[in-house]
Amino acid sequence: MNENLILFFSMTGLLNGLGAIIIGLIVFLKRKRSVLHIIFALLNVVIAIWALSYWRWLLADNHDQALFWVRMLSIGSTLIPVLFLHWILVLINEAEKKKLLLILCYIMTAVFLSVSFSSMFVKDVKEVFGFPYWPEPGFIYHLYVLFSYITLLGYGIYKLFKVYRTTTGYKRDQLRYVFLGLAIAAPAGFSNFPLWYNINFPPYFNIFVLAYMSCYAYAILKHRLMDIRIVLTEFLVGSIAFVLLIETFLSRSLYEVLFRTTIFLIFCIFGYLLIKSVINEIKRRMELERLTRELKIAYGKLEKLDKAKSDFISIASHQLRTPLTAIKAYVSMILEGTYGKMDRRIKDKMKRVFISSDRLTNLVNNLLNVSRIEAGKMEVELEKVDLENIISDLVKELNVKAEKKAIYLKFKKRKRKLPDVLIDKNKIKEVIINLIDNAIKYTQKGGVIVKTQTHDSKVRVIVSDTGIGIIPKEAGSLFDSFTRGQTGSLLNTEGLGLGLYIAKRFIEMQNGKIWAESKGKGKGSTFYIELPTK
Ligand code: ADP
Repeated sequence: MNENLILFFSMTGLLNGLGAIIIGLIVFLKRKRSVLHIIFALLNVVIAIWALSYWRWLLADNHDQALFWVRMLSIGSTLIPVLFLHWILVLINEAEKKKLLLILCYIMTAVFLSVSFSSMFVKDVKEVFGFPYWPEPGFIYHLYVLFSYITLLGYGIYKLFKVYRTTTGYKRDQLRYVFLGLAIAAPAGFSNFPLWYNINFPPYFNIFVLAYMSCYAYAILKHRLMDIRIVLTEFLVGSIAFVLLIETFLSRSLYEVLFRTTIFLIFCIFGYLLIKSVINEIKRRMELERLTRELKIAYGKLEKLDKAKSDFISIASHQLRTPLTAIKAYVSMILEGTYGKMDRRIKDKMKRVFISSDRLTNLVNNLLNVSRIEAGKMEVELEKVDLENIISDLVKELNVKAEKKAIYLKFKKRKRKLPDVLIDKNKIKEVIINLIDNAIKYTQKGGVIVKTQTHDSKVRVIVSDTGIGIIPKEAGSLFDSFTRGQTGSLLNTEGLGLGLYIAKRFIEMQNGKIWAESKGKGKGSTFYIELPTK
């Protein structure tokens, strides 16, 4: 083995040792009380013991000196895996949960430590592939490699992967750096083992120990980690550029200088563009993630508000209904003369009180319906229903209203009987009442006709009037909650715009359809309900 090469290997030990001390100190001083930082500092101490002994061992000029430093070195390397595992468990917040396991690992490590100065661990030092004092493993040494470097580290990495898959945000970025560190650590650390097993592969990568220590330190010190893809791209571009530059300096002719410089420059330009595009892409992604997060929060708040609104409406409506029922009942009895005769003028006013409280009851019922629908508490009870019967009754009932406005209300019954439909009787009644009521409300001249039809094994109820009509572009939106038409709100100022919304929800619950058609303002409107017969 070339003496210079041995000197180089020993220097890697010195550099790793000094680096570990400096990194360990920085991390420790940053937060002296954090367990994560303390364990990391301890890990650095044992790495320093290992690396500095490594340096002294390779510089040793006699057998005993070399054997002593090899054994010192083993003390450090025996402690590395257990501290590393401890550090990982603290990092992923599982140190408490795995306390027993950790204690066990420390005990095992202590057992190995207790024999590290005996020939069971390192038998002797002898010449191996040019290294004058390479250690020869004792039988315990194999157990130690199996336990510490394979089982213990393997378990730590497995745990890391498991946690990584479910974490997000900063913690995820942090773990990425730890993985990068591991990717460097594996070849660096393990390049020390082949010679112990008579494989001629000197510890070339030993110098990278420093690199992975830096990765870990960065991961726990920085609170805004640079995206790892940027670091990797920069590293890759930088290394290739470096190699190309060295090549340029090694050129032997002017032609080679020109050629290699050109390649170097072209590579630098493209490398720069590549790094820029990676940075841009990551920025965009982060921006998107931020927006998504904000949107989620805003959505959550909106949902809460929406629920509060529904709850409020529901509670308020319940509270309103009871006194309203009492008012209506008493007024109705007064009007019927239960409490004696009254003046015509008072009776007139009493009638108005009755009409107003009736309207209020309808309003409250509508609000309650909406809050039930929106809370998903509305249920349908299906039964076979003879629609023609229902319509006949309703038309008779509502005729009073039509007569008051001096318009007609007719039900054009078909010759053939309409098939029965499977629907919720009360709900369909409410919907039809609403449509006829609206038709009367929004018609000044002419009247309202109700028809039924069958259409592709479906049944239709059609309510058409000769009233104020609908502006075509509003025909769809009238079915939204709290929405009123332009023409409608002019004629009738009191509506809330809930009736059609409730109707639509009721009909859709029963797998039906509801829609409106009109030729325009002043040209009457037609409302359709379509229901399946099966
Ligand atoms: P409201 O009648 O309380 O306003 P609805 O939801 O029942 O609430 O109706 C919504 C809107 O649809 C009404 O404000 C009105 O503009 C329009 N509309 C409903 N029925 C008719 C009709 N037959 N003719 C014209 N416009 C109508």
